[in-house]
Amino acid sequence: MKSKGDFPAMNEKDPEGLKPDGTAYRVLIVDDSMFVAKQLSQILTSAGFEVVGTAADGQAGVEKFKELHPKVDLVTMDITMPRMDGVTALQQIMDFDKDARVVMISALGKNDLVKNSLMIGAKNYIVKPLDRQKVLERILHSLK
Ligand SMILES: [Mg+2]
Repeated sequence: MKSKGDFPAMNEKDPEGLKPDGTAYRVLIVDDSMFVAKQLSQILTSAGFEVVGTAADGQAGVEKFKELHPKVDLVTMDITMPRMDGVTALQQIMDFDKDARVVMISALGKNDLVKNSLMIGAKNYIVKPLDRQKVLERILHSLK
């Protein structure tokens, strides 16, 4: 029987959500779907990230980003939300901090809005339904 010790590389692998200095990447989740926000939060915290805030619409997201700044390393930004959509919120965040790292969360079929977001400065995008591996892959890529 194999014991844990047979897979040292796997066990010793650093959690993805930690910076080189060992502290967690701090994430702000902006999404009007409580289900999606919870899913994202679970995926990220299970990989070592720290969720420092959540907001349920674009306007609240921008306000939260400014309030937490500079203690946010990454924002996940839903595209379709009430009050203020994610593309507008992205624009306002980039105007406030041109180095902000924002990853868009998109429903299928929003290619134009995704393209627009990437032009405005979003680092990457993730299409729903969320797949754990893809979420982590895209988010880690955006942190490089
Ligand atoms: Mg939405």
